[in-house]
Amino acid sequence: MPSTQANESDERRHSVLVIDDSEDVHRLLQARLRQENITLLSALDGATGLAMAEQEAPSLILLDLDMPDLDGFEVLRQLKETTSSRDIPVIVLSGLHSPADKVVAFDLGAVDYVTKPFDLMELRVRLRAALRMSDLVEMLGRLAHIDGLTGLWNRAHFDARWNECIADNNRHGKSLSVALFDLDHFKSINDTYGHPAGDAVLQSFAKLVKRVCRVTDIACRYGGEEFALIMPETSPADAAGVCERIRQELSEMHWPAHPERKITVSIGVTGTEQTVEIAPEKWLDDTDKTLYRAKKGGRNQVIATDIQSGNMIQQPSQPTQQAA
Ligand code: GH3
Ligand code: MG
Ligand code: MG
Repeated sequence: MPSTQANESDERRHSVLVIDDSEDVHRLLQARLRQENITLLSALDGATGLAMAEQEAPSLILLDLDMPDLDGFEVLRQLKETTSSRDIPVIVLSGLHSPADKVVAFDLGAVDYVTKPFDLMELRVRLRAALRMSDLVEMLGRLAHIDGLTGLWNRAHFDARWNECIADNNRHGKSLSVALFDLDHFKSINDTYGHPAGDAVLQSFAKLVKRVCRVTDIACRYGGEEFALIMPETSPADAAGVCERIRQELSEMHWPAHPERKITVSIGVTGTEQTVEIAPEKWLDDTDKTLYRAKKGGRNQVIATDIQSGNMIQQPSQPTQQAA
């Protein structure tokens, strides 16, 4: 499952799936890789290996080539054809020595090839190198989804997760809410105090959103001085409560760089407690309209509506003084 927090720790214990028809190989690896910080999973045939690769999503696969029924080449081919297992690095372990086999294995997508009987020291270092590389690839993938200034998820991540969350709502009828935030009169912060002061406001606001929302919420910088918060399994009334807290805390924040100037935000929230049939873009469009109402209504306020009925969600009374 994709993580919800952009700064989630990358520290994790790797799991390595061994697919080999020889029980001796499994026993040997269990004994000799005990000191490594990995969990070993075992499959004694290709079909079980493929099923486990999908279910367990291991960090790496050690794959024997010479197996009855489904041989290693076929397993490798299927692993690379399946979306969920395509990116799992595979080290081939094989008694076959022909250079042609190595070429085929690499062409099919193996990251390394170790011939049996293998030297355990060598296998260990090759395993570590492959895991290091896969960590790097994963980190690069994460970075491509992170906003550099605030550390929140970026727009690309928002788009991907928003579609998933809507699909989840459609499938399971779980409640779902989303909020769009737009800082009030932000251009004048830049104009009056300079761009670095504006950047500092964006960073502090991002921290505030992260602190107030739940770990399962997906906080994103939507673009410029606009932010978005997806709140899975949250009713629109609860989402409005979270947003009201964010609005209030921001309006009370002290800014050392400009103590005379408060910062406020306008927020549009929409949500549902049941399955809704609505396109993700239309839902966002309606949320944007709700945000626009908050702007037009005087800024520094939360407006929340039920996405299905369009009815307003009652809000506790809020001050509506403007920031500038
Ligand atoms: P409104 O209350 O209607 O939202 O007014 P506004 O001034 O916030 O809205 P407007 O869209 O006119 O201005 C947004 C400003 O946000 C303009 C742009 O320079 C600034 N901005 C966008 N991205 C960044 C950024 O990364 N850093 C800084 N410092 N400013 C940014
Ligand atoms: Mg704006
Ligand atoms: Mg703005």
